[in-house]
Amino acid sequence: MFGRNRLTGRTDEQLRLMREAGLLVGRTLEMLRGEVREGVTTLQLDALAEDFIRSHGGIPNFQLVPGYRHTLCTSVNEEVVHGIPGDRVLKAGDVLSVDCGAEVKGWNGDAAFTTVVGGAAAARPEDLHLIDATEASLYAGIAAMRVGGRLYAVGDAVEASIEAAAERDGHTYGVIDEYVGHGIGPQMHMDPQIPNYAVRESGPKLVDGFTGAIEPMVTLGTSDTRVLDDDWTVVTTDASRAAHWEHSVAVRQDGLWILTAVDGGKEALERLGAPYAPLD
Ligand code: MG
Ligand code: MG
Repeated sequence: MFGRNRLTGRTDEQLRLMREAGLLVGRTLEMLRGEVREGVTTLQLDALAEDFIRSHGGIPNFQLVPGYRHTLCTSVNEEVVHGIPGDRVLKAGDVLSVDCGAEVKGWNGDAAFTTVVGGAAAARPEDLHLIDATEASLYAGIAAMRVGGRLYAVGDAVEASIEAAAERDGHTYGVIDEYVGHGIGPQMHMDPQIPNYAVRESGPKLVDGFTGAIEPMVTLGTSDTRVLDDDWTVVTTDASRAAHWEHSVAVRQDGLWILTAVDGGKEALERLGAPYAPLD
């Protein structure tokens, strides 16, 4: 299932170009956070994202995926990933995951966040727990990456983080194992697959300059999913709500650079005691 080929790394020059793409994705998501509110449709968010990316010299790379015409995936409540923007009107208390990608100068970024429409005041407490636990598991997975380490340490760290959160929060979380993270670079989706969950194997050895997208998906119930008749939208089989967080990351000899985080990952990595190694 998972490739055994040696990983390849990018040059510093290539990583700086990937940072341009990643930063545009990060800034697009930051802009969208301010636009998520009751009464807005997911298609309106999509249009804002497309305008933002194109006006900053990028291409919405989701539109390069065969059969997909939008800039974002917008997944609401029991939708896990790959929700298609449309005329759905967001309601206070909805759990919304926004996934976005952009290509700049031939290099790609890919990232996602989950939030509650109307903010914490409108949220069910368990939804806030889920969102925070999933975000924390993303950073735990990222912090497990180091040159010479093994790629599948990412999934081990995600699951350990979620187990600790489940204990603390008093919820049973489901970690989705039907969709994976991926390498990223000249294309958005590249080898290798990166499990966001624990697997038996240890995976290939991480090399200097490796770039990948880590993207844990976690639910308040089952880890089983199905795809709706639109052939895209992935939902939980028990209708439990889901969260999805993603960043594109560069692994460097000296540490990590979170290419799609506006601050490069400085705050999160320092908080976790993981080495922060930007090139800018
Ligand atoms: Mg994505
Ligand atoms: Mg991705």
